[in-house]
Amino acid sequence: MTELAAELAGYDEAVSRYDPVIGLETHVELGTVTKMFCGCPTAFGAEPNSAVCPVCLGLPGSLPVTNRVAIEYTIRIGLALNCSIATWCRFARKNYFYPDMPKNFQISQYDEPLCTDGWLDVPVGETVVRVGVERVHLEEDTGKSLHVGGATGRIHGADHSLVDYNRAGIPLVEVVTKPVAGTGALAPVVARAYVTELRDLMRALAVSDVRMEEGSLRCDVNVSLAPRGSATWGTRTETKNVNSLRSVERAVRFEIERQAAVLDGGRRVIQETRHFHEETGTTTAGRSKEEAQDYRYFPEPDLVPVAPSREWVEQIRAQLPELPAARRARLQAEWGLSDQDMASLRNAGALDLVAETVAAGAPPEQARNWWLGELSRRANESGTELAALPVTPAQVARVSELVESGALNTKLARQVLDGVLAGEGSPDGIVAARGLAVVSDDQALLAAIDEAVAANPDVAEKVRSGKTAAAGVLVGAVMKATRGQADAARARELILQRLAPPA
Ligand SMILES: [Zn+2]
Repeated sequence: MTELAAELAGYDEAVSRYDPVIGLETHVELGTVTKMFCGCPTAFGAEPNSAVCPVCLGLPGSLPVTNRVAIEYTIRIGLALNCSIATWCRFARKNYFYPDMPKNFQISQYDEPLCTDGWLDVPVGETVVRVGVERVHLEEDTGKSLHVGGATGRIHGADHSLVDYNRAGIPLVEVVTKPVAGTGALAPVVARAYVTELRDLMRALAVSDVRMEEGSLRCDVNVSLAPRGSATWGTRTETKNVNSLRSVERAVRFEIERQAAVLDGGRRVIQETRHFHEETGTTTAGRSKEEAQDYRYFPEPDLVPVAPSREWVEQIRAQLPELPAARRARLQAEWGLSDQDMASLRNAGALDLVAETVAAGAPPEQARNWWLGELSRRANESGTELAALPVTPAQVARVSELVESGALNTKLARQVLDGVLAGEGSPDGIVAARGLAVVSDDQALLAAIDEAVAANPDVAEKVRSGKTAAAGVLVGAVMKATRGQADAARARELILQRLAPPA
């Protein structure tokens, strides 16, 4: 059963009458070499069921041992999110049956998470929204079910199912936000900006490859609506495993429209998990939400408690790298940009590209112009993300260098980029193959100038009589004759020399 479009409220209307409250639970697979409680490797894409052992298969008599690096990574994340780090905490057993979980329980953390009560400042447009972090805890990932023979890859309609336990036992960090209220119509954008910032933070901390498309960062999105100005929040739904930044925004938006229609119709929002559908941007009902007591949590008896010493925590804190917010502030100062300039760089997804182009030797202003101008236009035309264009920051830096040195003018530089985007090779290779160098050789220019003068005798006469502004027409003719390759400044000099009034 799917909800029909007719049961959606218009977005603007929905947020004019209801206040959305959102919450995000983000799972991040840690990039440790081995799994959470055994020595199996964690590499993505291995032959199914090749990275398994008695511990992660839950065989009788096997005993887990905690991965110290996973603890360290989690503390690193907790510190970067301004959390308190527990002095002593335990893992807990979360009991439920699922075919991709061979132990029939998951080792997780329940009432004693490793990190609690922090926040993340999230840039949204030119402002910053502080998102509270409830907890950061550590658990193990489950295996993966593969449903074969159906049209959708879902269990419904499949012939049979296969299970791959390679992922079972990979360390998984869950970052749970506090409810985020008061963002109104911006709620979907804030949700997306939060996940983006969290992803960038994880990348800077080097704790995960955070590849959403490979599932190493996955998001559950909670949404509830309350009538405008009401002190009590509404019933929330939890949309599971939303796997792209764009989908996070769409899922929040859809739930706001759907729940508004439910409430408008005098019905009640049901507390349940929901599935997000990429193709349609809609969510559909999953199972009704379990209560914590359904999981029969109890402290994991096979593991010793985790008690990170304060010395260790401070050591980890001292080694934190530059975090994304600090890096942005530094780059903004180095490049001399306004808040607005910075916001447009971020919104265009160009910040890292520009930074890499500058690192490859281009002046910041040039790097910014290429990425926000010409290349953004190309990305729009082809409907791709800027970062997905087949051109590297190093290539853009080289094109910029060729323009700076006068070897190319802007028009020729665009043709070089055409070549790079078409896969013709390096900028220098394309300049050579397409013969795109600026013609500044006087002999060649003078020949073109003679032709231009002969073709425009009246203009030439004006220049001779001292109206040097008219020389522009002749420069234009020279540029045309050389298919844009003439060094325009040199051509102008030569024209003025040739047509100088008699002394
Ligand atoms: Zn194992």
